[in-house]
Amino acid sequence: MKRPTILVLGAGYGGLTTAVNLQKMVSGEEAEIILVNKNDYHYETTWLHEVGAGTIAPDAARYPIAKVINNNVRFVQASVEGIDVNERKVQTTAGEMTYDYLVLGLGFEGETFGIPGLDKYALSLANLNAARQIREHIEYQFASWSLDEVKDDSKLTIIVGGAGFTGIELLGELGNRVPELCKEFDIPQEKVRVLCVEAAPMVLPGFDPTLVEYAKTQLSKKGIEFSIGTPVVEATEEGVKIKKGEDEFEFVKAGTVIWAAGVRGNKLVETSGIESNRARIAVRKDMRAPGFDDVFVVGDCAFLLNEEAGRPYPPTAQIAMQQAVTIARNIKHLMNDEDTEEFVYDDKGAVCSLGHDDAIADAVGRKMAGKKASALKKIVDNRALYLVGGVGLTVKKGKFKFI
Ligand code: FAD
Ligand code: NAD
Repeated sequence: MKRPTILVLGAGYGGLTTAVNLQKMVSGEEAEIILVNKNDYHYETTWLHEVGAGTIAPDAARYPIAKVINNNVRFVQASVEGIDVNERKVQTTAGEMTYDYLVLGLGFEGETFGIPGLDKYALSLANLNAARQIREHIEYQFASWSLDEVKDDSKLTIIVGGAGFTGIELLGELGNRVPELCKEFDIPQEKVRVLCVEAAPMVLPGFDPTLVEYAKTQLSKKGIEFSIGTPVVEATEEGVKIKKGEDEFEFVKAGTVIWAAGVRGNKLVETSGIESNRARIAVRKDMRAPGFDDVFVVGDCAFLLNEEAGRPYPPTAQIAMQQAVTIARNIKHLMNDEDTEEFVYDDKGAVCSLGHDDAIADAVGRKMAGKKASALKKIVDNRALYLVGGVGLTVKKGKFKFI
């Protein structure tokens, strides 16, 4: 009998964790496991705000996929260009692939809600190179301001759209980085403006209000300004238009606009033949796509309802890695003609960094702020490395500066 092919698309938290779990459970004789990813490395999406601000080097946030997979997995470096679940076919830049079991883990894209100009003029933390582009763009703006004879101070204005976790974590890093950049490029710091624009009436909507207040105070001390309850409604080459009231708008000129106001699933999901909403697939309890018994969805392409709370689980690395373990086990169950398991989420809470030296946390049953929360954030980051690559990877790439 032909051994089944398990095709895993994407080597982010979801896809790579699926592959490393499968390689422990399924031998090369039992199945062919193929992992497809655009790059030959995995990047830590949860560290991209640090890469974007320039507080860590891009290389620090990535490692070769070959370091964590064994001979049971065949890695193919290719871009997925199309998925057809009715024909069980996947088009990639390395050719067409077929499968017996598919794991769709192609991650997220920034959501711009159709707001004019954002796609063209705003930068984003969508992937490692996009984060690198932010770092280099800011440096370019600062360097050119220094050289300009007639100076336009708006070159030194950085706007961050969205004060969710991504926006706040980025602002924390920028708060630390801006003084360094000013020194590097001989810029008086009062010339620099970092403005966060948030549509909702508070930053980090839904998070513990005391911790939110702490975060806002700490970021304000680092010179970050907030415009709250004021959605961005347009971006142009010059900056952004902000809605300040019923018929009141303000245009803020800025050399850098970063959009961090939400995510959707990978657009390839929308043409895959599976029903989706904002490119996210409402998966069944065992993480399979509705109507397709051979297709699993992991991470930010999956939509999963928290039935107790009556709202979807937020797309996070934490949930993606847990889903991946269930998916690997369920593929093994299907290969053995056994029943699949339900995915049960073990929510360990959330930690939001405010730079490398500060954070807020509502996690492991405790609310924390400051150095303790910051140390916890590094432990969480290290744990993700450990779960994929064990002690060796954690020692090589982990964060061990706890103060
Ligand atoms: P990803 O990790 O994005 O991986 C997708 C993979 O697919 C990538 O390797 C990509 O290269 C590959 N890919 C994409 N398109 C193609 C293609 N066409 N062909 C081939 N390969 C492709 N969550 C937390 O739980 N804790 C945090 O602290 C946290 N911090 C975050 C900080 C930032 C700045 C951001 C942006 C997000 C953060 N998140 C955090 C959310 C978390 O990163 C995502 O939920 C998580 O990355 C989703 O995992 P994934 O496997 O679905 O996708
Ligand atoms: P999000 O959806 O959580 O937050 C986006 C923010 O942008 C919201 O506050 C929203 O009100 C605001 N917004 C939307 N439209 C706007 C507009 N027109 N103008 C101004 N503001 C606008 O998105 P995110 O912060 O990118 O997070 C995405 C996912 O990644 C979430 O699930 C989050 O939990 C996760 N994440 C987790 C961490 C962490 O655990 N430390 C860090 C980053 C991201």
